[in-house]
Amino acid sequence: MRMAILQVARMGHPILRQVSERVDDAQFEDPNFQRFCDDLYESMLEHDGLGLAAPQVFRSLRVVVIQLDSDEEAMFLANPEITPIGDGQALGYEGCLSVPELRGLVARATSIRVSARDRHGKPFLFEAHGWAARVVQHECDHLDGVLYVDRAEPRSLAFLKEYRRFGPPIVIEGEEGEE
Ligand code: ZN
Repeated sequence: MRMAILQVARMGHPILRQVSERVDDAQFEDPNFQRFCDDLYESMLEHDGLGLAAPQVFRSLRVVVIQLDSDEEAMFLANPEITPIGDGQALGYEGCLSVPELRGLVARATSIRVSARDRHGKPFLFEAHGWAARVVQHECDHLDGVLYVDRAEPRSLAFLKEYRRFGPPIVIEGEEGEE
């Protein structure tokens, strides 16, 4: 099967601000949709992301792919719904392929319950905590036209080079790492 590396939309492109369309049942059967899922995954790997959402590759569709660990299988979420478990929030620095070379501190729910379809349309449920919960929330935000910078503490924003040189502008305890 031939796969394609897709270009990534950068902040300022209107597609990143749209509310994406739901994947309808028929689409899961469509080979074009399956190819798109492969391309989304390949593009995520090529661009060194932990996750990638369809609107980031110019498709206004409610699909994201996430792979937190290269030893694990990639997880596709179509039409995901997120419900926080409890009201615990944690701060962590995030980055985004659509906002290159920037980092910023974002508060996210520490535990979530996710209901989604897989890439073949099969419904599934799971819980995510900590870093995994953060990545899922970040990627799913893309489906609603939300970028992490919308939620970031303004004074925490730093270019990657400076972030590495001087450290995070706002130091948080128990930081889990950077995306
Ligand atoms: Zn992103």
